[in-house]
Formats: sequence, C-alpha cells, structure tokens
Amino acid sequence: MDFECLAVIFERLETVSSGNTIRDLLAEFLKTVAQEDLVNVCYLLLGRISSDFDDTVLGIAEKSVLKSIALASGMEITKITAMVRETGDAGIAAQKVLQKKPRTLVPLKPLTVHDLVGKMHILAASTGSGSHDAKVTQLATLLQRASPMGARYVTRIALGTLRLGAGYKALLDALAIAFTGDKKNKVILEQAYNICPDVGIIAETLMTKGLKGIEAIDIQVGRPIQMMLCQRVEVLDEIPDKIPGEVTVEAKYDGERIQAHKNKKGKITLFSRCLDVITDQFPDVVKALAKQIDAEEFVVEGEVIAIDEKGNHLPFQLLMQRRRKYDVEEYVAKIPVQIKLFDVLYYNGKSFLHEAYVKRSALLEKIVHKNKAVTLTERIVTEDVMEMSDFFQKMLKEGYEGIIIKSRASDSVYQAGVRGWNWIKWKKDYETSLADTFDLVIIGAYSGRGKRQGVYGALLCAVYNNKSDTFESFCKLGTGLTDEVLEQLPVLLKKYQREKCPARVIVKKEMEPEVWFEPVIVVEVLGAEITQSPFHAVGLALRFPRFIRFRDDKKPEQATTRREVEQMLRK
Ligand code: AMP
Repeated sequence: MDFECLAVIFERLETVSSGNTIRDLLAEFLKTVAQEDLVNVCYLLLGRISSDFDDTVLGIAEKSVLKSIALASGMEITKITAMVRETGDAGIAAQKVLQKKPRTLVPLKPLTVHDLVGKMHILAASTGSGSHDAKVTQLATLLQRASPMGARYVTRIALGTLRLGAGYKALLDALAIAFTGDKKNKVILEQAYNICPDVGIIAETLMTKGLKGIEAIDIQVGRPIQMMLCQRVEVLDEIPDKIPGEVTVEAKYDGERIQAHKNKKGKITLFSRCLDVITDQFPDVVKALAKQIDAEEFVVEGEVIAIDEKGNHLPFQLLMQRRRKYDVEEYVAKIPVQIKLFDVLYYNGKSFLHEAYVKRSALLEKIVHKNKAVTLTERIVTEDVMEMSDFFQKMLKEGYEGIIIKSRASDSVYQAGVRGWNWIKWKKDYETSLADTFDLVIIGAYSGRGKRQGVYGALLCAVYNNKSDTFESFCKLGTGLTDEVLEQLPVLLKKYQREKCPARVIVKKEMEPEVWFEPVIVVEVLGAEITQSPFHAVGLALRFPRFIRFRDDKKPEQATTRREVEQMLRK
C-alpha cells in the first residue's frame, strides 16, 4: 500500500471528533487494506510502528528531524525552526517546505507503508557513532519519497507525536465492523486484546482465522497481558455479600506492579502496569526471580517495594528513584528492592488464567523459594469480617496501604484487564475519612495568576467513560501542586498540547480550559466528596481535589471510570 493512501485517511481522521464517524471511517478504510499491510497499518493508526508493549523507541530528537526536513527540502534549518516555533508543529512545517522539493538525480520510488515501517525500525535500532548522521539522511529520504502531506505524518511518526483521536478501542470496534459486519463482536475483540494487547495480531488473526481464531488467543510468554484490577467497597461489611465464603486477604503494598515472564531460554522480561518493558530498571529482580523460582517457564505477578537493610518496607517515593535509564547499578545498591509475588498466570507450558485463585496461589507457594529479594504477599484466609479488619489494622501498622480481598471460589479466574469483584481493595483513605483517591486524566489547563504567573494555575481533569471511550471533565485541580510539580507540568504536557478540544474529550462550555491536552497524563488526586455538578461533563464533580502524584504507570484508559464515581456518589 502506498503510504499516501494512509496519509489521506490520517488527514480525514484529523478533522473529525465524533467517535462514531471515526469508527466508520476506520472500518471502511480497513476493508481496503491487504493482508500484508494490515498489521503495520493498525500500528500506524495508533501513531506507532509496533505493538503497544514493544519497547522499540524511535528516539529521533526534534533537532534531528528538523535537520532531515532541511536536507529533504534544501531549505535552511533556521527558517524551518522558525516555522515550527510559529505553527507549533514540525509536521505542518515539513508539509509546507516540501511543497517544492529539490529534484533528485534518480526519480525516487513513492513511499509505501511497508518501506516506511521497515526503515523506521532500522532507524530505531541504529546506535553508536555515526548513527546520528545516518538517521538524519535516511529520514530525509523518507520525507522526499512521501507527498508533502505524507511528509507531515512521517515527521509526526518519527517524533512520536502522531495522535489521531482513535484509540485502540475505536480500532477494535472498526475491526469488528470491517471483518465481521457486526459491531457487537467488539466485545470478543476487547477480551482478546486483554490477553494479547497487540492490535496488529488481533487484526491479522481476525482477517485470517475469523472470530474462532480470536477466541483461541491465550497467554504467551514474552507477550504481556493486561493486568487484573480491583473493585472497591464502601464499608468492609459489604465483603461477604460481594464474595461469599472464605477469602484470601492479602496486604496491599504501595509499590510498582510487575508482570515477569521467563521463556524456555531462561530470558526474563519485566513489564510494568502500562505494559512497558522495564527489565533494565530491575536487574536485581531479574536475577532473584531466575534463582528463586523453580520453573522452566513462568509468568508471575507481584509488587516491587523498596526495602532497607533489615528488609523493612520504605516509601514509594524512594522506589521511584529506581525508575531510571542511567546509573542503574549504583541505584540497585543504594535502594534495594523486594518483590512480593501474588499470582502465577503461566507455568511450564500451561496457562493458569482459567484456574481458580486457590490453585494459582498453591502453585506459587510450591515454586517460589522465598528469600529477602523474592517473597510472597502476607496473607490470611478467613470469612470473618472482624479478622479482615484486624489484619487490615496490622498491615497499616506495618506501613502498608491496606488490604486486597481475593475470592477463592471456583470461578475466581484471572480476569485480564478487568476490574471485577474477584479482587476488592480496602485502603486507609477509605476508613479514615470521606477522602478517596482517584486516577484522573489531564485534559486542559488554566494559566496561573499571582504567584503562579507563567505556569499553569490549575488543571482540568477527567474520568474515563469506558462505554463510550471518552474522557469527561470531573474537576479543576489547583491544590497540592508543589513548585516542583508546577515547573514539571509544562514540560510534560507540551507534547500533548492541542489548539482545540481533542477527539474523545468532553467538556462543558463553562469549564473550557485555556489550553487543551490530548488525554495521556494520569494523576492521582485525593478528593473529599463527590457532588452533583451542572458544569462538569460527567454531571458530577470532585470537591476539594488535591494533587498527590503523577501515575505514569497508568494509561489514560486505566483511569478511574465514570461508572466508579457514579457508584461512589454518596447519597
Ligand atoms: P489500585 O492501583 O488502587 O487500583 O490498586 C491495585 C494495585 O495494587 C495493583 O495494580 C497492584 O499494583 C497493587 N497491589 C499491591 N498489593 C497487591 C496484592 N497483594 N495483590 C494485587 N495487587 C496488589
């Protein structure tokens, strides 16, 4: 497929904001894509060159991309830089300056989707001396081979800033319409996506093997699965209604969730909650898992926490210092960690996703040889709410966040990507006051005044509506933003700034922000109460919101949902 065909659909997608129109456009287009291009087309529609969890980073800095545009167009880089400053978008600048391309000695072949993705992978893989200049030249050739409009999108793909308003959910809907003729089948695709979060594989399987092929998709070592999530209750007394009978009550640690995969060759890969590969951050965890788990192949899950020499738990903020690309070994020694394992999803060639929790935890206990670096979560088995409450108080005293109550029933399977009633969390915040924490997505900002002149004074935050795949405004957040956070915000958000309300974002006129953002950054917010509100798109508002921290381990689709806040509305 010529990249131009894709550029045309990109341009159309940029002009629409209605979810239904986006889906219909995508479905019509997907019907025209040949099998050999389908995987790449799906990745590109999401602004990527590989699956969401692939750790390929294009890593082309804006400066280098501008150099490529200069080389491809023959225009001075200073002029291009000025244009980018003016338009705020290197893609538009590339399109403008490449209207008139210098003639090449040999006519260039038009750019195809296959070539673009192939060459972009080569660019991503090239490192070392000389690679920088080579990257600039190769990208310049791709820009020359594209039409001016194509160059706009090639530039954004190279910079990692191509966002068309179509998330993976819209794409799955469109695939269901295009290849099964029935939108309802999106549910089957979404379930498969939870186990195989790779739209390319889903699309290809659907095209070649139909829904039967999709239903057969299972866990595969090396490919992460969406993590199972917890529900919450208003009072601990509700537990027996939600999970009758005996339950396992585990400590809830405030650390980083890790899904660890070991393949037959002994290679261990660690995935974060966002399904990013974070193996390089935790060489100590990798070593410990290799030694302490008795299995040829496994997929296990646990929470990593920072510990002191005596093995005592240390605050989350310290663990965050382990999120680094450089000086990793120095920090391994400085901030030792421990992984508290709580689940096993795959063991020696067999998927355990469909096994009950009792069976999974028994297996975990059998294969893990506990030591200081690897251990299991602290737990009790009970059906008595008083015992749960006592265990909760004990966990708080030990400095943990709370407890997670897990069903032991025969249907307590691992529900990938689902916030179901098989796991229920109970945290300190729930008990001590009305206060609760929410994971909200930043969708806009208002400029600061007085002391906050020159930085953002407040942020507009949204909850996620997982039914309509939209982000709906829920509160204006100005409290708790320290000077450090205020400084960080413009840098973090610059990439996602938009001139108008982005697709999938819903805000009422009264709350329109001065600056819009693509819904990408998730923040944890403490709030005192939820009230009815005519001003926010959800119809509810969070009162007295206070910024707690950035949740860069969460994707926008993993934010608190509209349904959850509706349930939490205290009458
Ligand atoms: P939340 O982020 O508040 O929805 O709580 C769910 C998170 O708690 C999970 O994603 C894990 O990172 C973390 N967690 C801590 N301890 C446990 C545990 N024992 N079992 C499952 N998840 C846990």
